[in-house]
Amino acid sequence: MIVIENASEILTIPHGYNKPKKGNEMRDLGIIKNSNIWIDRGKIIKITKELPDKIEEKIDASGKIVMPAFVDPHTHLVFSGIRDFELSLKMQGKSYLEIQNAGGGIYYTVDKTRNASEEELYEESSKRLEYMVKHGTLGAEAKSGYGIDIENEIKMLKVIKRLSENYSIEISPTFLLHIIPKNREEKEYVEYISDNIEKIKDYAKNVDVFCDKGAFSKESTELFLKKAKEQGFKLKMHADELEYIGCSSLIKKFDFISMDHLLKTPDEIINEMSKKNTVAVLLPGTPFTLFQESFSDARKFIKNNVAVAIGTDLNPNCYTENMQEIISLSIYRMRMTVEEAIVASTYNAAFASGLQDKLGSIEVGKDANLIIMDAKSYTEIGYHFGVNLVTEIIKKGKVIS
Ligand SMILES: [Zn+2]
Repeated sequence: MIVIENASEILTIPHGYNKPKKGNEMRDLGIIKNSNIWIDRGKIIKITKELPDKIEEKIDASGKIVMPAFVDPHTHLVFSGIRDFELSLKMQGKSYLEIQNAGGGIYYTVDKTRNASEEELYEESSKRLEYMVKHGTLGAEAKSGYGIDIENEIKMLKVIKRLSENYSIEISPTFLLHIIPKNREEKEYVEYISDNIEKIKDYAKNVDVFCDKGAFSKESTELFLKKAKEQGFKLKMHADELEYIGCSSLIKKFDFISMDHLLKTPDEIINEMSKKNTVAVLLPGTPFTLFQESFSDARKFIKNNVAVAIGTDLNPNCYTENMQEIISLSIYRMRMTVEEAIVASTYNAAFASGLQDKLGSIEVGKDANLIIMDAKSYTEIGYHFGVNLVTEIIKKGKVIS
């Protein structure tokens, strides 16, 4: 038996039923004080004040908290070419679309990624994955989307597959319909991707679309999602980030596991979301790195009984692997409570990624995918910002860092 001993707080984030936590449920961390966690063959056996007779290994958590490892529900983990040079353009007040139209932005990353070999992409992305693990993330969703033809999208998805096999992170792979190639028409391109979507079935579990002004229209999105649904993919969507053009209203026609960004979502759609188990994945790093003043209205989503998760949106425009930073931003810029931000970065994030069976809570019978944090109480998380509070990372009962 492996024992994590004497934690000042264990945040179990209890389950109870198989759906994400909505509204006030997001404040329930299921705290157990001054207790031990017994682990056998990678699984949690007991949470108790007692110690077992036989102990193979003790992990001391005195004066610290133990909580589920973070899950990052929205990453563009695999790409080539960071865009550090764009920061000065952003500081001059250039918008996302202006930088893109000037030949920078996403097309720069598309070119670099298409020209990179699978090996080069693997090498570059694995460094990011190591940062994620160091900061306590053991589950993530990762998207393709910079390949913009089936062959190059598959190249990206193969890299995601190799990363999840070789590292300690559980990755939920997503095909992303991200951007219209420069020399192609939207309609023709969406039909080409939709007709070939079967070819990516071996590589991706989910599909996602960037539905917005300057990206894919609501009509194209609907056509693509219909085809993807027929092929059995789980559905996600980048919606209402730049403008509301009706994207999130597709919740009336489809069951999404998540809708992401949601900066301009109308009240009526928020109400529709509360009727389903679709997770609203809010990404405060994106407006933060775009020098924007307005963030997703997390308070409104939670008040209206929607399940909220938070994620990094790790990409060349918003370059962080650290979920603790996102918790701080969620508190300080979206006014989420620390309890809500913790549930949003673990339990609900696992649901948004389809990883809830493996991650997101500390429960008897579940894999011991945990982190120990150098904090006496969970109330220090987010409050103590800009530092890495993770001291131990435990994957299936084994300390990996
Ligand atoms: Zn994104």
